[in-house]
Amino acid sequence: MRFSKFYAPTFKEAPKEASLPSHIFLTRAGFIEQNGAGLYNFLPLGQMVLDKITSVVKDEMDSAGAQQLSFSVVTSGDLWRQSGRFDVFGKELLRFKDRKESDYVISPTNEESAVACVRGKLTSYKQLPINLYQINTKFRDEARPRFGLLRGREFIMKDAYSFHASETDLDREFELMHETYSRIFTRLGLDFRAVEADSGAIGGSGSKEFMVLANNGEDDIICCSACDYAANIEAASRAPRLSDIAAPEAEAAKFYTPGTNTIKDVAEFFRVDEFYTIKAVIKKAIYADSERVVVFFVRGDDELQDVKAQNAAGALELVVAEAEDIAKAGLVAGYCGPVGLASGVEFFIDRELEGATQMICGANEKDYHFVGVSVASFNADRFKDLAAVKAGDKCPKCGAPLEVKKGIEVGHIFKLGQKYSSAMSATFLNENGKAEAFYMGCYGIGVSRLMAVAIEASHDEKGCIWQRQISPFDISVILLNLKDDEAVSYANSIYSELKSLGIRVLYDDRDERFGVKMSDYELMGFPYALLVGKGLKEGKVELISRKGLTKESIEASMAFEIIRQRLCV
Ligand code: ATP
Ligand code: MG
Repeated sequence: MRFSKFYAPTFKEAPKEASLPSHIFLTRAGFIEQNGAGLYNFLPLGQMVLDKITSVVKDEMDSAGAQQLSFSVVTSGDLWRQSGRFDVFGKELLRFKDRKESDYVISPTNEESAVACVRGKLTSYKQLPINLYQINTKFRDEARPRFGLLRGREFIMKDAYSFHASETDLDREFELMHETYSRIFTRLGLDFRAVEADSGAIGGSGSKEFMVLANNGEDDIICCSACDYAANIEAASRAPRLSDIAAPEAEAAKFYTPGTNTIKDVAEFFRVDEFYTIKAVIKKAIYADSERVVVFFVRGDDELQDVKAQNAAGALELVVAEAEDIAKAGLVAGYCGPVGLASGVEFFIDRELEGATQMICGANEKDYHFVGVSVASFNADRFKDLAAVKAGDKCPKCGAPLEVKKGIEVGHIFKLGQKYSSAMSATFLNENGKAEAFYMGCYGIGVSRLMAVAIEASHDEKGCIWQRQISPFDISVILLNLKDDEAVSYANSIYSELKSLGIRVLYDDRDERFGVKMSDYELMGFPYALLVGKGLKEGKVELISRKGLTKESIEASMAFEIIRQRLCV
């Protein structure tokens, strides 16, 4: 490709809101262009990268026996009603009506389409298993689209849906997809971990996320410092905590504790470790057609994990409970405890508190606390995993200290089980001739997010540093003086020769200054550049490696061979 004919507008300045390297460089280097909040155009360079990522994903999915198809991006509201998700999916689901007043959605994910696609067509266990995938546009009306391609509203996802005659076969496919994903992310040159995950709005019985470790990641990942245990903080567990500090000893009693409405105040007042206190976190839980105040109790020195809390309450969303909501529910902020809580108020207690004795908690009365409390005599279903695991807690598998790392989610695999097939009456005849709902799995990869992740993982202060496997070009041939006939003819011929080997070359034949050409090269970040300049008089050209920007002066006559050896192995 001749740069003089290539559409790749570059910019000195990044968009104001861009804070992350991937957002800044992909925009400045002309890979992508913003077209509205969370909406991006892929310019030719961006499209080339997308195609490369897509081809790796496709190659590995095909090798694993999955079959590619495409579902329509707009799907009918009726389909989403059949699964029960039309009303319960949050505001991320973009719903609209057509001219006939029928409901439609723009697909944020396609379980419904996949089930409808096979329903009534795959009818026997003999036709199973099958895994169908697409690489297609998704839309999620994210509350805060940000960080460029990392969290867009419109984005490209690879999503696969598998159908099985048994749970065991689903487990086998889940493992196969686990391996397939590992191969894909390895081929893309990424440092990733597969971690235990929360299944979120998609639901199901088990799921794993693939996380690329990156300081700018939005996800907190809990990793064991000794074994292979790793989990998203939303799903992380730990060995039950113990305290070295002795428990306070007191008869069960109510105490006057004026002005102690924080855990710190209470612990100081009684001179006990916060470990022996119970903290109440009051939230308002939002359901499809109602809302109510819910209280979550965790140890005084633990924090509530929001996703765990939301799952415990079975809510669509948890929001801040305003003073008015709290008062209306009959709760006393700052003095709320599980014993003697206002009747009718929904509450959950962290499961590590089950059976705890000698605890201190609010007495549900202003300025009073209970001491010597035993956390027993509650129904078993009140106890849920609610506390956020933190650095230094102990690994649930081996007991070694846990660490917290930042990650970016690039893939997510789920065992859906029969959730969607039952809801949508999609059945097959099993070996005994009985109708049974399909066992399903689903498997997503953020294809457009991966473009940004690649740059988060590999850049410097000047721009992108592409790994060759997804770089739009392998090398730039940079001609410095268009008036130097000898240089022009050398550059023209090495451009054609390299192209004839299948090497992807961007030939910078623009009538621009050296500085402009170099800074565009550094910004765009292809693996190599060949500089054809004054040195040619002495038979020399310069080979630049983008990683580290190292320069080698090489014989012009040997350049073709040297590049061939580097790029055609
Ligand atoms: P996140 O937790 O980051 O919001 P998610 O868990 O909602 O993602 P999934 O439903 O698991 O996402 O979707 C599969 C994949 O699609 C994710 O692993 C991620 O790589 C990608 N993805 C999800 N949301 C977005 C988005 N808003 N922009 C770009 N890619 C996304
Ligand atoms: Mg996910």
